Amino acid sequence: MSEKENKNYNFEEAFGKSCFTDYQLQNRLPKSCYKALLAVGSGEKPLDLQTADVIATAMKDWALENGATHFSHWFHPLTGSTAEKHEAFIVPQKDGTVISEFSGKELIMGEPDASSFPNGGLRNTFEARGYTAWDTSSPAFLKKNSANSLVLCIPTVFVSYTGEALDKKAPLLRSMAVVSKQAVRVLQAIGEKAVSHVDSTVGAEQEYFLVSRELFNNRPDLRLTGRTMIGSMPAKGQELEDHYFGSIAEKVSAFMAELNEELWDLGVAVRTQHNEVAPNQFELAPIFSSSNLATDQNQITMETLKRVAERNDLVCLLHEKPYAGVNGSGKHNNWSLSTNTGVNLLDPGKNAEDNRRFLLFVAAVLKAVDKYAALLRLTASSAGNDHRLGANEAPPAIISVFLGKEMEQSLADFAGGKSQVAQSQNVIDVGSPFVPDLPKDNTDRNRTSPFAFTGNKFEFRMVGSAMSIADPNIVLNTAVAEILAEFADVLEKSPDVNKTIQELVAKVYSDHKRVIFNGNGYADEWQEEAAKRGLPNLKNTPAVLPTLLSSPVTELFEKHEILSKEELHSRYEIRLETYNKLLNIEALILEEMANTGVIPAGQKQLASDVKSICRQEKLGLNVAQQKNRIGTVNDLLEEIIELSCRLNTVRRESEAMSDDLQRQAEFVYNKMIPLMEDLREQIDGLEHLCDRRTWPYPSYEELLFTL
Ligand code: ADP
Ligand code: MG
Repeated sequence: MSEKENKNYNFEEAFGKSCFTDYQLQNRLPKSCYKALLAVGSGEKPLDLQTADVIATAMKDWALENGATHFSHWFHPLTGSTAEKHEAFIVPQKDGTVISEFSGKELIMGEPDASSFPNGGLRNTFEARGYTAWDTSSPAFLKKNSANSLVLCIPTVFVSYTGEALDKKAPLLRSMAVVSKQAVRVLQAIGEKAVSHVDSTVGAEQEYFLVSRELFNNRPDLRLTGRTMIGSMPAKGQELEDHYFGSIAEKVSAFMAELNEELWDLGVAVRTQHNEVAPNQFELAPIFSSSNLATDQNQITMETLKRVAERNDLVCLLHEKPYAGVNGSGKHNNWSLSTNTGVNLLDPGKNAEDNRRFLLFVAAVLKAVDKYAALLRLTASSAGNDHRLGANEAPPAIISVFLGKEMEQSLADFAGGKSQVAQSQNVIDVGSPFVPDLPKDNTDRNRTSPFAFTGNKFEFRMVGSAMSIADPNIVLNTAVAEILAEFADVLEKSPDVNKTIQELVAKVYSDHKRVIFNGNGYADEWQEEAAKRGLPNLKNTPAVLPTLLSSPVTELFEKHEILSKEELHSRYEIRLETYNKLLNIEALILEEMANTGVIPAGQKQLASDVKSICRQEKLGLNVAQQKNRIGTVNDLLEEIIELSCRLNTVRRESEAMSDDLQRQAEFVYNKMIPLMEDLREQIDGLEHLCDRRTWPYPSYEELLFTL
């Protein structure tokens, strides 16, 4: 991107250009058709095939005008990434020519050959029918897979022949409808009659690492698992904290400029970008939108990050913990509820009435988070994220809510029956006449909290950087809907609504105060304190996954028709299987790197050291220290050989347990991972003592400090 081009960047014209937005629909569809589509969105009417035909043709014309050749139903299978199958717009004619065509039927329904997507036993492979169905609430977009391949992607849900959800979008859409319904009930009951719809809104901050492609290609661990399995820390890590918010290097800046333009073009409103704490780590954040759109756009963002990096001879690492010893990457899921009348329900009000409503919704969130803490924790669990949670760089595995002193005081006052709630919006005096006074936020920042109130939304900070944000939002929407339903049941019958609100908030505050924690979540004392309070502390994926089968979770999801018991069970199996398979791959790679790279390098080192020392000894030189050093190298080498043999045995043992996935996962966690860590420690020790020029893999120093 030349400087000149950049200066002329025209947001109004360029934003969403590759997106079939509402604007396009309005301009390209006959009025009656557009209206019919709106009616579909509001649930009044299903889409008829004739209307679908008209929309499909309009979409195809637009796509062809922009250079697309194919269309694809784009969906979110349970792998956590997205899937697409391209089909060209061509239809052959009798005379040997072709015409371009895209029918309504093709728009609204697809049938990918779905037997190879994970289904956790929901579909027998012999009847592996899966259907994709158009999600009219998320705009179709043009995806550039390479310079000359442009595909019209149609966001879809993915369901089985018998209607079970095989993806993450179907339950997300259901959860949005449920939270809307219950929030509307509450609002209607407290007199807000104009509200007919409530949207759950999400802004997902995304962290990532960049690494030079050449170095990446020389690391089999990075290539195959996205994280380094070995590598000793360089003299400098992140301790100086000089990377965070530091000025952005030119190469990265060029990458970001290209990335932004691609994302803007796709209608993703990325706004913030900066360096993160670890070297070569960065973050971006879009402007929030409805949770379905935010989820789609986060997937698009992850794909675009990878693609644009590739083009710049870089690789974007989305793994939660690419490097030991420096911070990993997460995703902050900012969440709120917003009415069709434009009110953010988690924004503290300016008058007593607004405040009452605000505190009622905060209470609903508090109770939901406490009651379904394990479930929420589960949505952030994966093999990758296990390296982060609880490791003094990310929130601990304990779910707690940060409200901030002032907010908690307001809640306590209101619960205690004080009608005048503390509402001081203080001003920070900077102490210089040249700098205007700053309004002080109602909450201070607490980076150590997994679930923090940040002024007008809650921020769930546990989510892993590589994960889809669908799961956390399905849970947030559904759990909050459940509590709002309880509230609505009471409020609808209440003769004195204001009094009932106060009673509801008071009850939540006294029953669920235990989940509020404003202190340092990284401190050891918090672990003890949380245990005393009875808060769950589920430290790893095998420990947390059975939550999916627990009765409170099954009841919650079945009651609100988000997921059935069978669907939950299938998700449980898929996640266990993914965990086990992934760790099996990691162990294999570690073994292989030890055997084919590390051990030969150590042996070479030893051989050349022995040769050189023998020569020196012959000359009568003192070589006592060198002999010590050789001894250490030899010991490490022996240890590495032994540990990698043991790892091989243990890995085979774990493989043999595949008929009991839970037992296998626990075995992997308790027996195999500690062995892998031990092996790594010895290898890293050896790396320190080996000739840099012959060590077979790029070092941490190169990976972290060059691009
Ligand atoms: P910080 O780094 O301080 O957490 P950022 O500005 O990087 O702040 O990110 C905040 C995110 O929260 C943005 O994506 C923003 O759009 C989002 N956000 C703001 N208001 C809401 C809201 N009402 N609902 C959901 N997300 C919101
Ligand atoms: Mg944040």
